[in-house]
Amino acid sequence: MKNLVNPNNPNANAFESSSALLSLYGRGVAKGYAIGRAVVMGAAALEVPHYRLASELIAAEKVRLTEALSSTRLELEDLSKSLPLDAPIELAAVLQVHVMLLADPLLAEDTLRLIEERHYNAEWALTSQGQLLAEQFSAIDDEYLRERGADVRQVVERVLHTLVGTRSLASLDQVRNTTEPLIVVARDISPADMIRLRGAQFAGFVTDLGGPTSHTAIVARSMGVPAVVAMGLSRQTIRDGDLLILDGEQGVVWVNPSSQQIKDYQELAQRYVEERAALISIKDVSSQTLDGIHVGLYANIELPDEVELAMANGAQGIGLFRSEFLFMGRQDLPSEQEQFEAYKHVAHAMAGQPVTIRTLDIGADKTLDSEKTVAANPALGLRAIRYCLARPEMFMTQIRALLRASAFGRVRILIPMITNMQEVRAAQHMIRAAQSELSAQSIAFEPNIEIGGMVEVPAMAIAIEPFAQALDFLSIGTNDLIQYTLGIDRTDADVSSLYDPLHPAVLRLIASTINAGVRFNKSVSLCGEMAGDASLTKLLLGLGLTEFSMQPRQILDVKGMVLQAHTNALRTAIATSLNRGIPVDLAALK
Ligand code: PEP
Ligand code: MG
Repeated sequence: MKNLVNPNNPNANAFESSSALLSLYGRGVAKGYAIGRAVVMGAAALEVPHYRLASELIAAEKVRLTEALSSTRLELEDLSKSLPLDAPIELAAVLQVHVMLLADPLLAEDTLRLIEERHYNAEWALTSQGQLLAEQFSAIDDEYLRERGADVRQVVERVLHTLVGTRSLASLDQVRNTTEPLIVVARDISPADMIRLRGAQFAGFVTDLGGPTSHTAIVARSMGVPAVVAMGLSRQTIRDGDLLILDGEQGVVWVNPSSQQIKDYQELAQRYVEERAALISIKDVSSQTLDGIHVGLYANIELPDEVELAMANGAQGIGLFRSEFLFMGRQDLPSEQEQFEAYKHVAHAMAGQPVTIRTLDIGADKTLDSEKTVAANPALGLRAIRYCLARPEMFMTQIRALLRASAFGRVRILIPMITNMQEVRAAQHMIRAAQSELSAQSIAFEPNIEIGGMVEVPAMAIAIEPFAQALDFLSIGTNDLIQYTLGIDRTDADVSSLYDPLHPAVLRLIASTINAGVRFNKSVSLCGEMAGDASLTKLLLGLGLTEFSMQPRQILDVKGMVLQAHTNALRTAIATSLNRGIPVDLAALK
């Protein structure tokens, strides 16, 4: 994919003109604008804690790094002295190189400078500098020197190990926005890394890979941070410290922009903030169409603390709590008590409004750190309910926590990625077993808890009747429904242009699911990213949808569309397109 365009000279090689004005094109997946300095990251850099230090902590952090460097050096020197006589001669030489690298000012001094000037914590500064050096070595023609890149990585890892020993995890109290905004530039960021980066208060994200419904994009939207994905070559083109403008609306990143552009974008950003603030006036307006159809607007959340944001945007409940985010970015599994506290927090905060908690949807682009093996094709493998039924103990722990939380609010259980009725029956059976256990232990729970299923595998949508009959509610997960219907990996930038929510096959599956809900008197919501895209609100209303669940920050935009819609007219227009199999003309929907 060709993403590099230099408007000043379309024939210029982007790599030669990196100090000139350059724009890179990708997909804007989280709205808004950011102006800040690039932080170019490799995979290793994403695994360490990232936070910026308050000025008074800089000196101590430098001491921490210096001590870690010297104790690693001592460790290596001891190791070389204690090498057995028959150890290969190369080993002693490698250790010697590592000791030298540790003393090299390029590693030590430049890392200390990053702490001093950018206020990076030691781990972050070290991985950034290590990555830069390793990349410089790999670009050298001489084979011997090229291989030293690997030595740099090994040395950095050793020091990180020592650093982690000196302070396990970042204390987020130390995060203060003391310097200019930073924009992360990475090849890809896993959903677990996104959660880790939440504390670092980055102003924007740019990735070479990913698509609009990848979980990276979803988490960026939930953080309210603009993001552009599928950039292709940003990491080779953008240098650490470059000034960037990130335009999440157009999917453009400007590298080293002119002062006029910065001024224009500052104005745009200001207007964007004002428009968002103006939307708040409709927060408490009843959510109904011009012809009086009430439309439920719910929030999707990944972590319990987002419930406040949901309420601030007028959510009428939680339509999707992606519980797997409690399980990601850690080595152990959350205990029943820990899960119970998290679910209870949300149930309690929503004060009787529905809180739909999805059981663990691990697999595809969401993985557990403790899971060592990766399936050949994880999106089609042991994912979601398949994974949970294969690990009944873990599933039971979650079910018990969910049931216990149901005593504190209107908790509903949502089962992801259902394909067949055996899965529904197995899950229901386990929920009943957990209820019996809790009763025997005199632990409170809601005996009539609603159990719903996600419609995200085409097989379920095509043969929806028994599911609609057996489950209490349905929720359409269009992110996966589109992926599996069209056979397009939702995270693969190379096919993202084929990922088409308006494909007639997708629209027919959504329509037939909604109709089944009407026939069996079961509520049907839609919680994929389509629900939060205000340009699709009228289309979905025309398909008969009356429950939408989306990122909290999208609720008011969608509400604005609902308030201007005539559902009757929309239904007729959509039915005509669907019956004729012709594409829906969004612009013509009134
Ligand atoms: C979906 O597939 O539409 C959905 C909401 O679930 P997730 O994005 O977490 O896979
Ligand atoms: Mg899904």
